[in-house]
Amino acid sequence: ELTLSDITKHFGDAPALRSISTTVRDGEFLALLGPSGCGKSTLLRLLAGFETPSEGRISIGTREVANAERRLNLPPEERNIGFVFQSYALWPHMNVRRNVGYPLEIRRLPRAEQDARIDAALQATALEPYGARMPAELSGGQRQRVALARCLVSDPTAVLLDEPLANLDVALRASMQQVFSDFHQRTQATMVYVTHDQAEAMAMADRIAVMNQGEIVQLDTPEALYARPRSRFVAEFVGEGA
Ligand code: ATP
Ligand code: MG
Repeated sequence: ELTLSDITKHFGDAPALRSISTTVRDGEFLALLGPSGCGKSTLLRLLAGFETPSEGRISIGTREVANAERRLNLPPEERNIGFVFQSYALWPHMNVRRNVGYPLEIRRLPRAEQDARIDAALQATALEPYGARMPAELSGGQRQRVALARCLVSDPTAVLLDEPLANLDVALRASMQQVFSDFHQRTQATMVYVTHDQAEAMAMADRIAVMNQGEIVQLDTPEALYARPRSRFVAEFVGEGA
């Protein structure tokens, strides 16, 4: 479980997140949906440990990982979470294979197991021909898939994805959606998936948190959001015309 309790985040005057309390259940696929600037990436970055909450607390399972009052904020590498963010940083001096395998290298897995897992991750992301390339020799969409492969390779218990398919063409989007769904089914990992695309959220998510102006305005199953939107904003955002 990922739990946020009374989380507020200020950058300047207007809060990016306003007193958010919510729980992501073990094994669920939760989509964060909402307009540009509503706070989706900020929420994900707080979960990952790249931002410090101004107020409130965050737990992963039974472990408190952030607490504004106690000035506690564990760094990302101590949270056992995989993530792919909008700026997908790869190691520029390592080829694709090594970038993907790096989390396994750190964990000193046996060489043969590293190779097998890297092969599977490259196959899942349609990157098999590019293992020897350097990041600078790849397109934006290919780089993004390297970041995905690197996230999937180490079987994290929770995965945070910030618009991971944004730069991909329609065919790749469809096949990568399948990769995420298969990954989720196979591992039962907890997934938090940020997207602008309501159709993508409706198709993939167990539940959807609709955000607006720093708040979660409704958190429900896709069916319930569609059938019983709690406000005009939600209706318009998830509705037929969206
Ligand atoms: P998008 O869909 O465009 O990616 P988002 O929902 O992910 O939007 P956030 O990136 O979380 O939005 O930003 C929420 C608000 O916080 C915005 O008003 C943004 O300008 C502000 N913000 C985000 N990061 C910072 C920062 N490092 N410094 C100052 N303001 C920030
Ligand atoms: Mg964002």
